[in-house]
Amino acid sequence: MKFNEALKTIKTYEAGKPIELVVREFGIEPKDVVKLASNENPKGCSPKVAKAIADNAHKAFLYPDDSMFELKEALSKKFEVQDDNIIIGAGSDQVLEFISRAVLTSDDSVLMSQVTFAMYEIYAKQMGANIVRTASYQHIVEEFIEAYNEHKPKIIYLCTPNNPTGDATSKEDVLKIINAVSKETLIVVDGAYMEYAAAKDKQYSITPNDIIDFSNVIYLGTFSKAYGLGGMRVGYGIANNILIHELYKMRPPFNISTLSLVAGIEACKHEEFVEESIALHTEQIKRYEEFAKEQGFSYIDSYTNFITYLFDDKIDSTKIADELLQQGVIIRNLASYGMNAVRITIGTKEQNDRLFSVLRKVLS
Ligand SMILES: *Cc1c(COP(=O)(O)O)cnc(C)c1O
Repeated sequence: MKFNEALKTIKTYEAGKPIELVVREFGIEPKDVVKLASNENPKGCSPKVAKAIADNAHKAFLYPDDSMFELKEALSKKFEVQDDNIIIGAGSDQVLEFISRAVLTSDDSVLMSQVTFAMYEIYAKQMGANIVRTASYQHIVEEFIEAYNEHKPKIIYLCTPNNPTGDATSKEDVLKIINAVSKETLIVVDGAYMEYAAAKDKQYSITPNDIIDFSNVIYLGTFSKAYGLGGMRVGYGIANNILIHELYKMRPPFNISTLSLVAGIEACKHEEFVEESIALHTEQIKRYEEFAKEQGFSYIDSYTNFITYLFDDKIDSTKIADELLQQGVIIRNLASYGMNAVRITIGTKEQNDRLFSVLRKVLS
């Protein structure tokens, strides 16, 4: 059978290794596995959300409210937008997929930074589009404008804060890029970690309202990171209603589950959980910065819930990640992104203690 030509260039997305794999391969007890590889919230989710999911378990037989009225209402209040400015996806990943399918053809290019979220490339390649990257992993305004002028991409992805590097782009710089391109280019502002950046430094805080008046910009957010609901698959896109209307044509019915809807709606009622999560994170990430200084390697100043350690030639990130894995500590190796670096999700105090002790051993 002949597959779509475009598939030839696609590398399957490699997710963070699951706990079950370490249990199976290395015979480590599940309770002894520390997973700091997928930027999940180490506090889990709000107990109130967990209770709401349990209390509604008997509704599993029902299709969800396909209008997603309550969740959209909660989001429209939270972000001060209208409900027709919102589309819900099974994670913001699904919204990325809708975007790709709605605008790209095989004649188009897309533009992104050198090192950024892997799914942008995969969804764009599915449509046969050509991938253009800037030279730096950071989002440098001049590099984006230069590449825009040369390639006239159909989509520009701005991942801020950026995954897997952790750096962020200021609102001022994002607006400079938006203002430099024509309305024929769609700009995706992916704010999957925005809650962390906004808490760290206002200059990096971008809200849907900052971009909604541009007809060619969409803001993406998710409940997977700060809200601790990665397993429920709830994300959203916010943009002007014409753009949202077109994206809706790509959406399958009932694209998030009945219990995912419950979780998203309940999560919006407990913003204090996000504050508590960020407080824990802010305290614990300092220990990662100290650890890097103590060990003599550098790191990227992080605006996310993870930190990226950069190694010199003497340390091999693949070896480090593999050795940690054998000890039951899962982190993310960035070798496949062309970096001799690892990305580590900031865990609970106890998880971080374990990471430091194992990593110290591995390094020495
Ligand atoms: C985690 C993440 C997403 C989407 O996560 P979902 O679980 O699909 O909502 C999107 N963009 C970036 C940069 C991410 O890190």
